[in-house]
Amino acid sequence: MNLKSRAQWIAWGREELQKVPTAQPQAEAEFLLAAALQTSRTRVLAFSAQLVETAEAEQFCNFIEKKKSGMPVAYITGETDFCSLTLRCDARALAPRPETEELVEYCAKLFEKGADPAILDLCTGSGCIALALAAKFPRARVTAVDISPEALSLAQENARLSKLQEKVTFIQSNLFEEVSGSFDLIVSNPPYIPTADMATLSPEVRQEPHLALDGGEDGLDIVRQIVQLAGDYLNPYGTLALEIGMGEAPAVCALFDPSQWEGGIKKDFAGIDRFIFARRKF
Ligand code: GLN
Repeated sequence: MNLKSRAQWIAWGREELQKVPTAQPQAEAEFLLAAALQTSRTRVLAFSAQLVETAEAEQFCNFIEKKKSGMPVAYITGETDFCSLTLRCDARALAPRPETEELVEYCAKLFEKGADPAILDLCTGSGCIALALAAKFPRARVTAVDISPEALSLAQENARLSKLQEKVTFIQSNLFEEVSGSFDLIVSNPPYIPTADMATLSPEVRQEPHLALDGGEDGLDIVRQIVQLAGDYLNPYGTLALEIGMGEAPAVCALFDPSQWEGGIKKDFAGIDRFIFARRKF
């Protein structure tokens, strides 16, 4: 059988992906070919005339079929880059998003380099926030919580893969229920999609765990519980940092008693009010 070049496979993959509604068929075909070849997209494009071996071509076809069925790219390749880490990704937890990397960067600005803050990550999912902060602050004491044992097993695998298992304590808990102690930072990317919007999500997002996305009628069921209890678990002048959904900022800000909290809204790279940073007054 004649082998096809990388460029020919990308063209084929793009055409296949165009048969289903997909956001960026060209970029996705390039990315999935890079994953099948276990190399970078840049190298695929730089050496696009190279022929693709049969086993790798079969892997690429398999990836394209999965993408056509609506599987998120991070689940197909089984991993994603997040801040300085490469994390395993599968249906046990939400695939980490670029916005959440911004949340980590904002959180990192709260502390001096070399600081040793106590950090609590609620709804840790893949562990991305807890692990990225543990990598940035090797002296930090990080606790990561999730209600889902499946998510926690993925987070713990990611801790081992990132060699951060000594730095992060994992607890299965419904928010604060099993948590004790007090923290300098409580951070969370909780489920925040209003239930009625769940049906309108893209096929990719609908393959992710509903538990990680569905925030109840107005999207704020979990956020409300976090805001209500966070004060009891924060050190003096500790910060609560939340990722929230588009349009939710006014309702979330209204949950904070201004006599006890100060802070504000931060935007994501798309200009959406995406993060709430609230500092506890004492
Ligand atoms: N940002 C995710 C999305 O777009 C939602 C994440 C969440 O609910 N925490 O689907």
